[in-house]
Amino acid sequence: MDFILLGPPGAGKGTQAKLMIDKWSIPQISTGDILRAAVREGTSLGVEAKGFMDRGELVPDRVVIGIIAERLKEKDARKGFILDGFPRTIPQAEALGTILQDLGRNIDHVISIEVDEEELVRRLTGRRMCKNCGESFHVVFNPPAREGVCDRCKGELYQRDDDKEETIRQRLAVYGQQTEPLIAYYSRTGNLRRIDGFSSIEDIFSRIVEAVGG
Ligand code: ADP
Ligand code: ADP
Ligand code: ZN
Repeated sequence: MDFILLGPPGAGKGTQAKLMIDKWSIPQISTGDILRAAVREGTSLGVEAKGFMDRGELVPDRVVIGIIAERLKEKDARKGFILDGFPRTIPQAEALGTILQDLGRNIDHVISIEVDEEELVRRLTGRRMCKNCGESFHVVFNPPAREGVCDRCKGELYQRDDDKEETIRQRLAVYGQQTEPLIAYYSRTGNLRRIDGFSSIEDIFSRIVEAVGG
């Protein structure tokens, strides 16, 4: 049960990852969540990453590859993991291949969630995220039961600095240039599952379950 969730910002990777955790009891490993925690804590990693994140650019490959190499060795990842937001470049994908080979394992499914740009902008401009657990909500499409409060953990919801329209457009451009080529890359390895992400959260989850064979 080693998964990669691939897809542009706003496709619903984080949302689907939470449902996958509940179904398969494997951890979500989100480089975005790890980097945001480092920025909040003011660690040297956070200081290095912050400028890139604020501009909607990618953090350098060596930084995120180092994070993943360490994280995949942890005990909770032994029976599987959901990579959310990594890899995002061809060099990251190649490095991941080497890391997994050294651990004697391989990716079972690369799930590519596909959504058009205008819908992505609608999703990202209305996104609210939990400060505590990283769960995503949307003011219209997926509102929390109580405004400003996470359904899952009662944490405080906030709007990310990079979820403003100008930065969103930049992130989508970066996705097209640097991350989209991974679809072709993983179609060659034969474990790519393409999912139409323009549908309800529940529908998309059913498609994922079906695509990976339950
Ligand atoms: P989204 O959920 O909107 O796709 P993420 O939370 O995954 O966004 O990422 C937020 C930011 O963190 C990115 O814009 C980028 O600056 C940085 N980041 C996250 N993952 C990576 C990665 N694998 N490589 C480089 N930068 C990353
Ligand atoms: P990603 O992790 O790919 O950047 P998120 O899971 O954070 O994306 O979702 C982006 C935004 O879109 C959030 O506000 C989320 O509540 C909302 N969202 C997720 N899936 C759907 C869906 N199927 N339909 C409408 N909105 C969605
Ligand atoms: Zn929460």
